[in-house]
Amino acid sequence: MKLIDGKTLASGMRREIAAGVAKLKAEKGVVPGLAVILVGDNPASVSYVTAKEKACEEAGMRSEEIRLPAETTEEELTGIVRRLNGDVSIHGILVQLPVPKHIREKAVIDAISPEKDVDGFTPENIGKMMIGDECFLPCTPHGIIKLIEFSGTEIAGRHAVVIGRSNIVGKPVAALLARKEANATVTLCHTGTPDIAHFTRQADIVVVAAGRPGTLTGGMLKPGATVIDVGVNRVPDPSRPKGYRIVGDADFESCAGVAGAITPVPGGVGPMTITMLLWNTLESAKRAAAR
Ligand code: NAP
Repeated sequence: MKLIDGKTLASGMRREIAAGVAKLKAEKGVVPGLAVILVGDNPASVSYVTAKEKACEEAGMRSEEIRLPAETTEEELTGIVRRLNGDVSIHGILVQLPVPKHIREKAVIDAISPEKDVDGFTPENIGKMMIGDECFLPCTPHGIIKLIEFSGTEIAGRHAVVIGRSNIVGKPVAALLARKEANATVTLCHTGTPDIAHFTRQADIVVVAAGRPGTLTGGMLKPGATVIDVGVNRVPDPSRPKGYRIVGDADFESCAGVAGAITPVPGGVGPMTITMLLWNTLESAKRAAAR
């Protein structure tokens, strides 16, 4: 069984991105800028935002941190996003989700200019992804494709099963795997699928993004399958200083015994999500410099 090390892939790609940033700066005098907006103080969101800002700075990019109180209104937040849309020093705008319940997520995403939507969440970018136009691909799904390729798994002609149909992971991963460039045959499972194991046992590639520990077990896999575990779940663990540990959606022990390759959690998909965010931000800055 091969462990698909997202940290190794991510660090190699981040070196390439940093070189691209330095080149853009030297040749065009442009420093890619990413605005990261966090509303409230959800601890998981705070740690994601901190990691994104740190990665941005390590790649030589500029990050503008905007932390807003939980009581910020939808109008205030979309007003800030619109100001950033017009700021030429900012090439990417990221609003950390989830936002507090009184703010409509859709209204916030719709406010982001598709040209600065480095998360790839706006309807325009999602639509372009579906029809194969140039766009910002959503970071986690794009990172998942890179991880499958990095594992040496052939995608074309294989059967891929995706568990989970969220707009930010499951549906776009399924769409990317089914594109002609990837050429997989794709089955998308969700809570309405009566017997998920029936499908996963036929799969060469399983991507599990359900947000539930133990969604995938070794008995549900075909021997030698490649497993990409997207889940990030906190489970109580009194032996750990924080009182919890992070596990994925796959039962690692049993899946590792059957799979040919599997991503660890942490250290699999997570580092790639941030890497693809940096990739999109550099791409956005290059496009702006060329305009
Ligand atoms: P989400 O919006 O909660 O969607 C979960 C999807 O999984 C839903 O479509 C749901 O089905 C389906 N589902 C839930 N339980 C299931 C089960 N037992 N069997 C089959 N399908 C099931 O979650 P998400 O945003 O896609 O995220 C999924 C997981 O990935 C979470 O743990 C999240 O923290 C993690 N994540 C990690 C990264 C990273 O960078 N590492 C990035 C994004 C997300 P229904 O549609 O029927 O409800």
